Amino acid sequence: MTVSHWQTDPEPPLYETDFLIVGAGLTGCSAAIFATAAGHQVTLTDARGLGLGASSRNAGFLLSGIDAYYHRACERYGEATVRELLALSLRTHEHWRRWAEGRTAITPSGTLLLAQTAAEARDIERAARALAAAGIEHIHHPRDPLERGYHAALERRQDAAVHPLALLQAVFDQSDATLLENNAVHQLEAATSDTVLVHSRRYRIRARHVLLCVNGYAPLLHPYFRGKIVPVRAQCTVTEPLEQSLLKTCGYADYGYWYFRETDDGRFLLGGGRAAHRDQENDTSEDRTTPAVQAEIDTYRQRHFPEIRVPVARRWAGIMGFSADGLPLVGRLPGLPQIGFALGFNGNGLALAAGVAERAVELLLEGRHPGALAAERLR
Ligand SMILES: Cc1cc2nc3c(=O)[nH]c(=O)nc-3n(C[C@H](O)[C@H](O)[C@H](O)COP(=O)(O)OP(=O)(O)OC[C@H]3O[C@@H](n4cnc5c(N)ncnc54)[C@H](O)[C@@H]3O)c2cc1C
Repeated sequence: MTVSHWQTDPEPPLYETDFLIVGAGLTGCSAAIFATAAGHQVTLTDARGLGLGASSRNAGFLLSGIDAYYHRACERYGEATVRELLALSLRTHEHWRRWAEGRTAITPSGTLLLAQTAAEARDIERAARALAAAGIEHIHHPRDPLERGYHAALERRQDAAVHPLALLQAVFDQSDATLLENNAVHQLEAATSDTVLVHSRRYRIRARHVLLCVNGYAPLLHPYFRGKIVPVRAQCTVTEPLEQSLLKTCGYADYGYWYFRETDDGRFLLGGGRAAHRDQENDTSEDRTTPAVQAEIDTYRQRHFPEIRVPVARRWAGIMGFSADGLPLVGRLPGLPQIGFALGFNGNGLALAAGVAERAVELLLEGRHPGALAAERLR
C-alpha cells in the first residue's frame, strides 16, 4: 500500500486519537474491542475499507491450534508452545462465539484433515498418536471417510465454519471504534516522547498508542518486518449453487495446501493450488488470480468431486502474512515503543486473531509479555 506524492496534501489535516489501529481486518477489529474495554478512545484506519483484506477473502475455517500436524509442531516449537497456541486458539473461538452471538452463525461443522498421499497418511497416524498421548480430542480415520481418493483423515469435531465477513462485521459493531476508510498509512514517526505521528493519505494522525494489524502488508509499511513476514497469495473459487449437498464438514488436504467446504447458500468452495507455484504466489501483495493456479483448482475439483456440474461463479485471491518461523508475532517497533503489532497468521487467522490481538493490546497498554508470540525471538 504505497501512497503517491499526488494522493496526499503536503500538510493533511491533523487528526488526534488516543489509540490508533492500522488495518481493519479481524485482528484490528478484535484489538479495537480490547482497547475500548481498557478505557481508550479507538480509531481504526484502513487503506481500503472494513475487512477488505484477507479477512473477507478466506475460506471461513475455524481450526483449533496451529495449522500443522501435532507431532511435527511439537518437534519444531516444543510441546509447551504448541499447547499455548492451542489454548490461544480456543480462547479466540470463545471470543468469536461471544461477539457473533445473535448476529451470525458459527456452524459446528468440524474439520477433516485428509491425506493426499500414503506418506501423508503415515504423518496423520503419527499426529493421531501424539494427540492421543496429549489427551486432545480427535478421531483418526485410517481410510478416507469421504471415499474420494484420499488415504486417511484426522477429524476435529471442535472446529467450525463461518461467513468471515459477517463475523468481522459483528466484531466491528461491538468495538465502538471510529473507522477511517480509504486511508493508507505510509509513514510512522515519534512526535513527542509519548505520542506518535502517523502519516496517512488523508490525515496526519497523532496518537498515544498505535497497533499495526496489517498482516501480510507489514513489510510494505515498515522495514522492521522485512525478512520476518512474507506476503503470500492464496486463491479460491466458489461454484453456482449445487444441485444437492455433497459435504457437511470442512476438508483440507495435502498439509493444508487444499481446502474445501460448502457455503451456507449451498455452493462448493475450493481453494489452494499454490504449492506448485510458489515462485509466483510467495512474496507478492497483489490480490489477483492467475490462470495457472486457477487451472490447478479446476483440475483438483474434477478429480475429487467429479459429480459437480455447476459452473464456477467466482474466483478471487487474498494476501496472507507468513512469519519466518510459522508463529504469529506480537511486539513493539524498535525505537518506537508506542507502536505495537499483531500479525503473521500463516493462513490461520480465524484460529488465532482475537487471542493474538488481546495479547498485543495487553503488551502495549500494560507491558505484559506476550509469551510464545514475542517478536524478539526473530532477530
Ligand atoms: C484465500 C484465503 C483463504 C484463507 N482461508 C482461511 C481459513 O479458512 N481459516 C483461517 O483461519 N484463515 C484463512 N486465511 C487467512 C486469514 O484470512 C487471515 O489469517 C486473517 O484474515 C488475517 O486477518 P488480519 O486482520 O490480520 O489481516 P487482513 O484481513 O489482511 O487485514 C489487514 C488490513 O490491513 C490493511 N492495510 C494494509 N496495509 C495498510 C496500510 N499501509 N495502511 C492502512 N491499512 C493497511 C488492509 O487493507 C487490510 O484490510 C485465508 C486467507 C486467504 C487469502
